[in-house]
Amino acid sequence: MNVFVVNCGSSSLKYQLIDSVSEQVIAKGLCERIGIDGRLTHKPTGKKEVVKEVAMPDHKVAVSYVLEALTDSENGVIKDLSAIDAVGHRIVHGGEKFANSVVINDEVMAAIEECNDLAPLHNPANLIGISACKALMPNVPMVAVFDTAFHQTMPKEAYLYGIPYDYYEQFKVRKYGFHGTSHSFVSKRLLEIIGKENQDSKVIICHLGNGSSVTAVKNGKSVDTSMGFTPLDGLIMGTRSGSIDPAVVQFLANKLERSLDEVITILNKKSGVEGISGVSSDFRDLDAASMEGNERATTALNMFAYRAAQYVGSYVASMNGVDAIAFTAGIGENNSKMRKAICDYLGYLGITINEEANAVRGEEICISTADSKVAVYVIPTNEELAIARETVALVLLFSDQPNPVNTKGTGF
Ligand code: ADP
Repeated sequence: MNVFVVNCGSSSLKYQLIDSVSEQVIAKGLCERIGIDGRLTHKPTGKKEVVKEVAMPDHKVAVSYVLEALTDSENGVIKDLSAIDAVGHRIVHGGEKFANSVVINDEVMAAIEECNDLAPLHNPANLIGISACKALMPNVPMVAVFDTAFHQTMPKEAYLYGIPYDYYEQFKVRKYGFHGTSHSFVSKRLLEIIGKENQDSKVIICHLGNGSSVTAVKNGKSVDTSMGFTPLDGLIMGTRSGSIDPAVVQFLANKLERSLDEVITILNKKSGVEGISGVSSDFRDLDAASMEGNERATTALNMFAYRAAQYVGSYVASMNGVDAIAFTAGIGENNSKMRKAICDYLGYLGITINEEANAVRGEEICISTADSKVAVYVIPTNEELAIARETVALVLLFSDQPNPVNTKGTGF
C-alpha cells in the first residue's frame, strides 16, 4: 500500500508518500506560504529535488500541485493517483473524543471541528487539509492520527489541574499532552528492544526537539506527560517557557502594559532557551556560544538539562520505578552532551553512561553501560511512518484484504 501522509499547518503542508510494505519514503516535500504566494519543494527519492514558486491561494491548490509533482512524467514517482491507497492526516488535537486513530467520515470531521477551540491555530488547518485531499481524491480512504490520543490513558490524578472542577466539566480544561504519535512509536520500539512488550513495564520517553516533552509509559500506556492543556507547558523549549507560575503572566502584562494574549505570545515565541540565552533556539548555536564562554548560553543549557532531569525523576516517582529511558527527536537523537548532562542527574537511579556509545548520533543505540541499573537508549522517532502504520492498520481493519503490511509496532 502507498500511504500519503499529510501534516497541514495554517500556511504550510508537509507530506510524505510511504510504501507501507518496505516502509520506505517514495517522495516527500513541503508547500509553504499557502495563501500568501506559494512554494513547493518536492523530493522524490533517488531523483532530483524540484522547487516550484507557484501561486497557492489555498490548501486545495497546494495539494493539487503536490499530486501533480507525484505523478509528473519526468520527476514523478507514481503513474497516476490510483497508486495512492490511503491518506493519513496528522491532527493536533483530539480532545477527549479521540483516544485512537479513526477512519475519517463526516461525523469524525464534525468531532474534530468541535476540538477547534482547544487548538485554534492547528485544528482548523488540519481540517482544511482533509477537505482539500477529499476534494481531489474522493474515493481514497483517509485516517486521522491525533497528537493527543496516546495520552488519553492518563489517570485523573495526572490530567486534572487543581482548579474548580466545573472548569473541567464545562470547558474541558485539563492536561492533554502532545507528541503522542512520537511517544507511542518510540515507547513501542523501546519495549520491543528490552523484550517487555507483553509484560509489566515502566519506561520514560524524552522527546527533545524544538518542542520537547517527557512521557511516563506504564505497561505500554501513557500515564503522565509534561505538556499540558497546550504545548506550552512542561520542559523549557526552543522558544517556549515551559511550566511557569501563572501569576507571572498577569504581573508581566501589568509591567509591560501588554494584553494577556501578548504575554502568552512572549511565552510561546520569545522565551525558552532563546529568551534566556539571547543567542538562539537551536541547541547547536547554544553549544557553540557556550564553548566560546557565553554564560547565558551555558545557563540556558543547564536549565534545560535540570528541568528534563526533574521530569524524569518525577515520573520515576509516579510509576514507582523505571526499566528503561529513551531519548528521541532532534536534540535527543543528536546531542550527546545534553543526554549526558541529563543522565548525570540520574546517578541515584544507578544509571551509568557508556561515553563511547553516547558519542553516536542519530542512530538506535544503547548508551548505558552493561551494569547500569536502568537501560538508556537513543531511538530515532519517525512520526510520518507511525502515521502510515496507523493508517494502513485501520484501512485494512475496514476492508477484506489480507494484511500485506509490516505490522511491527503498529499502534494498536
Ligand atoms: P522540531 O520540534 O521542530 O521537529 P527537531 O526535533 O528537529 O525540532 O529538533 C530541533 C533541535 O534539534 C535543534 O535545537 C537542533 O539543535 C537539534 N538538532 C537537530 N538535528 C541535529 C543534528 N544533526 N545535530 C545536532 N543537533 C541537531
